[in-house]
Amino acid sequence: MVKVQLTSRSPLLKSHLREANERLLLNMIRQNADLSRADIVRITGFSASSVTYIIKRMIKAGLVCETPSNRPARVGRQPLTLRLKPEALIAAGVEILGTGARVITADLHGNFLAQRFVPWELDHIVFLVRVRDAIRALTSNLGGRNLLGVGVSLPGSIDRANGRVIAAENLGWFDVDAGGILSQGSSVSFYYGNDAHLGALAERWFCEPGTRPLENFVYVILRQGLGTGVMVDGSLLRGATGEASEFGHTTLFADGRRCLCGSVGCWEEYASQRALERLFAEKAGLSNGSAEADAEQIIRLAREGDRRALSVLEEVAGYLGMGFANINAALNPEAIVVGDYLASAWDLMKDWVWDTLRSRAPQRQVRLLRIFPSRHGADSTLLGTVALVLSTFFNPSAESRPAA
Ligand SMILES: [Zn+2]
Repeated sequence: MVKVQLTSRSPLLKSHLREANERLLLNMIRQNADLSRADIVRITGFSASSVTYIIKRMIKAGLVCETPSNRPARVGRQPLTLRLKPEALIAAGVEILGTGARVITADLHGNFLAQRFVPWELDHIVFLVRVRDAIRALTSNLGGRNLLGVGVSLPGSIDRANGRVIAAENLGWFDVDAGGILSQGSSVSFYYGNDAHLGALAERWFCEPGTRPLENFVYVILRQGLGTGVMVDGSLLRGATGEASEFGHTTLFADGRRCLCGSVGCWEEYASQRALERLFAEKAGLSNGSAEADAEQIIRLAREGDRRALSVLEEVAGYLGMGFANINAALNPEAIVVGDYLASAWDLMKDWVWDTLRSRAPQRQVRLLRIFPSRHGADSTLLGTVALVLSTFFNPSAESRPAA
């Protein structure tokens, strides 16, 4: 039942099996709100004495506790239910943005315990060293609690195995050894992911309590660029080199705008936050591309009835609908989850988006498709870094784990 990855020459170590069994039970306790020792014996087929031994070890280590169950006692004693102690295991998370870096520590439920912001520096080495200092400051004294690892969200095309940024056009980073600088001198494991992929992971891992996690969906991140994280049958779509699902760089117009990636007519040139701000400036006759207002201001103006702001949102909504039709045709998802400016303006833009989508996609699919804002707001990617660390710890054999 428990898979332990050993090479043919590795000795079958008892410690490997014990650790695998402990994680199996921890994951069962995490996923079930009311689980007793007897339930674990019944589900796993382990002997009662083995389960008692493992549970006692975990209680002694401060990972789990037993409290009276809500279930009625059948005979004799009130049954006990096992619960994880949420702060017993800590994950750290880092999100690299165009304005700086957010660094946090979080418990098992994704509650942020501490956070810092590191302002942007043009010199990427100076910047990344300051981020490393912030990680160390937040994780140096955890009061005896276990730090499972550090999850890092990196923009653009990355090598997940070592955190190297291959190309992040919006930051001007090319071949930057971000992972090497951030993890230098650390004994903790670092895990790396693309911001849009991590947003998708957060949606699945930290879903609404009591609801079924989405299996097939696309998370859309709309900032300086436009990124998509695709979950297929519960696993992140990565592709041959880990760069799959770059829908932001699929072509919308053959003779369209020049994109930072080198192509022309890319979707992100028409629907990202940067595109929204540029279109708003262009409608005022500012042809040099300088932003006259940011997305937040444009959305506020639209709510006040400003005709230019409303017409720009309508135009961008049409481009979003075209892109969503392409996503729908390629992947047939059950949901598209939107973040960033589109999440905060979804009530204003959704009818225009749906009008375009309905005119371009099969009605039988559109009827089943849901589009809604992320429940995590601006914290989606950071929660994804926490989910990356936790999913590796609780379910190391899952496909959604980071590269070994
Ligand atoms: Zn492009």
